[in-house]
Amino acid sequence: MKIVENVADAFEACMNLTHPVGLVPTMGYLHKGHLALIRQAVKENGSVVVSIFVNPIQFGPDEDFIVYPRDVCNDLKLLKNESVDVVFMPTVEEMYPKGYDTWVYAEQLESTLEGKHRPVHFKGVSTVVTKLFNLVRPSRAYFGQKDYQQLILINQMVIDLNMAVGIVMVPTIRESDGLAVSSRNILMSKEERDASTIVYRALSTGLMLWGNGEYRTNILIPEMLNILSQEPLVTSIDYLNIVDSTTMEDLADATKNGIVLVAAWVGNTRIVDNILLRS
Ligand code: AMP
Repeated sequence: MKIVENVADAFEACMNLTHPVGLVPTMGYLHKGHLALIRQAVKENGSVVVSIFVNPIQFGPDEDFIVYPRDVCNDLKLLKNESVDVVFMPTVEEMYPKGYDTWVYAEQLESTLEGKHRPVHFKGVSTVVTKLFNLVRPSRAYFGQKDYQQLILINQMVIDLNMAVGIVMVPTIRESDGLAVSSRNILMSKEERDASTIVYRALSTGLMLWGNGEYRTNILIPEMLNILSQEPLVTSIDYLNIVDSTTMEDLADATKNGIVLVAAWVGNTRIVDNILLRS
């Protein structure tokens, strides 16, 4: 496993990899969700590149860039067991040197839902992912269903900008109580961690009602909001919408292609999750 920290070395390390090359972009503090992406990439490709980079431009000024959990030593220890060929872990200065001036953004997809609540977020994501694609030149890149809007936005970017990269979605990995695994979960107190399971319980209830034939979103959404509001530690709900899973447009009738997307605050931690309305 080659560890590279600058752009020139990353170019060189990725030049002679066995094709196809799979890329797994991460912000580190690796957990079993990341490992699921990496393992699928290892299975489907000749070589695998993992990037670890807490990308400052995808965090707003009041967001948690400074306190975002980091543990590179443990990340590298985990990756050594995973048949990864290259780990790219650049510094911020390496990715955005003085004079950096170019951005990639999606007009519609970044202005709704997550994008509405985190205005600079997706511009930062699409810009860094473009840079990673240019450096690594992967055949496939792996993203988690956990960040569903991100995945749709990257997919759209790849289509719009004619990037020759296949985007692969890996299902969300959950703790045994249903909470979606996330690097940020460590930031919760014990009480908040216990309370956070309400998010998946609300989503599961939505899916259960949908499975029983309730497709009207003006019934499903209040049912789920009602469950969330019963937990006092849920201090605020940024959004809970049912949208078309391809276009991300709000649905009135969720018979087909629906997905529930939610972002809710448990104390100071923002829980982002979703569930596909499928049997
Ligand atoms: P992050 O390090 O949080 O930026 O995540 C890197 C990648 O891992 C993204 O594509 C995420 O969607 C994915 N990911 C994060 N958590 C999970 C999870 N619990 N299950 C599946 N994929 C995940």
